[in-house]
Amino acid sequence: CGIVGIVGNEPVAGRLVDALKRLEYRGYDSAGVATIDHGVLDRRRAEGKLYNLEHKLAGDPLPGTTGIAHTRWATHGIPNETNAHPHFVDGVAVVHNGIIENFSEIRDELLADGATFASQTDTEVVAQLLAKYTREGLSHRDAMLKMLNRVTGAYALVVMFQDDPDTIMGALFGPPLAIGWGKGEMFIGSDAIALAPFTNEITYLLDGDCAILTKTGAEIIDHAGKPVARQRQITQAAA
Ligand code: GLU
Repeated sequence: CGIVGIVGNEPVAGRLVDALKRLEYRGYDSAGVATIDHGVLDRRRAEGKLYNLEHKLAGDPLPGTTGIAHTRWATHGIPNETNAHPHFVDGVAVVHNGIIENFSEIRDELLADGATFASQTDTEVVAQLLAKYTREGLSHRDAMLKMLNRVTGAYALVVMFQDDPDTIMGALFGPPLAIGWGKGEMFIGSDAIALAPFTNEITYLLDGDCAILTKTGAEIIDHAGKPVARQRQITQAAA
């Protein structure tokens, strides 16, 4: 299972899938990619190996210079296309590795509130919460922090919002996540190996970090919104 995201200047779908290939060693049962292009959020997902996803993309390309991608190792919900990430709720897109421990409690609450769920995954509560908090008037950043203070468990999360194609956000508690610094583009992924074709300047995030990436850089904050300082280093991962 693995995660990649790019907020950039050039088409991302192909680059995201290439980066996922570098994470294949972690194992997976399905994969997906989402981009935002001219204000439209769209995705391709496929069960099985990455070439199934590549095949779909070849027949039905996904334009856009901002995107996120995922290889899934199912923990909640069978491995099929519906349960494959990215998960979409009202213009919010989410990829997740790990387990949201309190998902059933959150899901019950959201269901009682009138929400409808499209998948059987624990992950979908993250997208549902972000959509709800945004609907209630919170900024994307505040919605992200409120969501992070609500969920428990182990996660590497990367999210984007249809109405803000110039930003992607990541957060982790348990599974690893690293930021890659490019020139006019920023990257995020499960490890430096995934990002090596793009950049060798890496910042490893730590548990409890939330990173807000734009094309020109990243802001790293804790769950209270307070800035945290993380080192930027040159990695040896081979491209
Ligand atoms: N728990 C999530 C799911 O089953 C994420 C699994 C993973 O780490 O890929 O969809």
